[in-house]
Order: sequence, then C-alpha cells, then structure tokens
Amino acid sequence: MTDLMPAIFFGHGNPMNALTRNVYSEAWSSIGKLIPRPKAVLAVSAHWYIPGCAVTANLNPPTIHDFGGFPKELYQVEYRAPGSPDLALQIKDLLAPVSVRLDEGWGLDHGTWSVLAHVFPDADIPVVQLSIDKTKPPLFHCEMGKRLSSLREEGVLVIGSGNVVHNLSAYAWGKPGVQPFDWALRFEKIIQELLIKGDDAKVIAYESLGPDAMLSVPTPDHYLPLLYIIGLRRKDDPLSFPVQGIDGGSISMLAAQT
Ligand code: ZN
Repeated sequence: MTDLMPAIFFGHGNPMNALTRNVYSEAWSSIGKLIPRPKAVLAVSAHWYIPGCAVTANLNPPTIHDFGGFPKELYQVEYRAPGSPDLALQIKDLLAPVSVRLDEGWGLDHGTWSVLAHVFPDADIPVVQLSIDKTKPPLFHCEMGKRLSSLREEGVLVIGSGNVVHNLSAYAWGKPGVQPFDWALRFEKIIQELLIKGDDAKVIAYESLGPDAMLSVPTPDHYLPLLYIIGLRRKDDPLSFPVQGIDGGSISMLAAQT
C-alpha cells in the first residue's frame, strides 16, 4: 500500500534560491529526504497564471526560464524531470466537468524547478504542472484542490508554489537580511493562525482581511497556489510549517505541509 502523500505549499521567492544554499533551500532539501518518495509530482505554480485550465502533457517538459535580469548561471539551469502524459490525462478526468486542456507548449517554470531542484535534485521523478485559471475566484481554486485529493492515495505529491506574502515593489533585492515590514509579518501570522484553526473560509476570503492583505497580496497569482493545498487537506490532517521566514522585507518563504 502506498503511503498517503503529503500536500505541500512552498514559498519559492527569489529565483536565485535555485542556485543558493540558504536556510530556505536547505529546508527544501530536508523535506525531500523526510517525505515518502512520490511516484510523480503535480505542481501548481504561480508562474503559470493564464486564462483557463491546462495541464502539461509532454513527455519531456522543457525547463522554462521565465524571468529577466538574472545571472547567466540561472538561465543554464536545466531540470530534466520527465513528464507524465498518463497523469495529465488522469488529472483532466478528475477535474471534470471543469474543462482542462492537455498542453505541450509549457513545461516546468521556475516556480516549480527552483524548489524541486532542492527537494528532488536527481530530477528522476515525473513532474506535471497545472495552470492557475486567472479568470476564476479564489473558492474555485480550493475546489480544484479537493477534486485532486485522491492523488494523495496514489503516491502523487501535489505542491503549490507561490508566496503567502509577495510584494515585489517593496522587495529589497540583494538584501536578504533586511527587517520584514510589519504588515508582512502580521499577514503571514494571520494566515498561519487561520491554517492552524482550519478556517478555510477566511483563508479563501483573504481579500477581506484588510489593508495588510492588500499590501501582502497585491496580485493573486502567488497566493492562489496555497488554496489548492487547503483543498487537498483532509479533516484532522496534521499541519506543519517546515520553512519560515520573510526574505527581503516583503516575501514570505512560509511553507505549509499537510
Ligand atoms: Zn514567483
């Protein structure tokens, strides 16, 4: 019998984390060693935020370097995990009646590979990405997570990759040690408390959490992957925060594992 797979939200932060050994990437490596080895990974990344639902169905998904202005070494990273057209088809079926397009034009973006390069450095586990439909409200994304729940019994690790607090205009590039903004600390704490309480409704209705939410989540793309993970969480599932910390003042690196 396969172990029940955890479902994990990762705060991915700065793409340079792919190449850097720091407290965040060390913690990602530890997660990879502590959890059961999955037969495949389904990743919901903030960086595939498009109108409509799509799932990568290519056998060999390309490594996408979807950023600008970083050192050459980062563009040379190749995360050559295989895809899984079979898993893509299964996901399409599980999500019905939501229409899901089998996609061969995308691949693995840095929301996925910057983290998986540390969690599974051998890149020998198949990886599939699911897009985030930007036309849908927050509740939709939690419901999508619920529909994917049976994958956990089949040895598939579902990850969401974004950031609970993600304000790039306030981010102190190149100064990882700066003090976090008060609003970032407060919002991250509120979300952690709501997750511990299991108050999914308030996590989903984050826009009603006041000015701290507006500063912490100026656009939904990096927050929404968290909602897939709360959808995948079952009643009485344990919850832990294997990575914590705020990078550059305004990016929460919080990870939540259930
Ligand atoms: Zn990002």
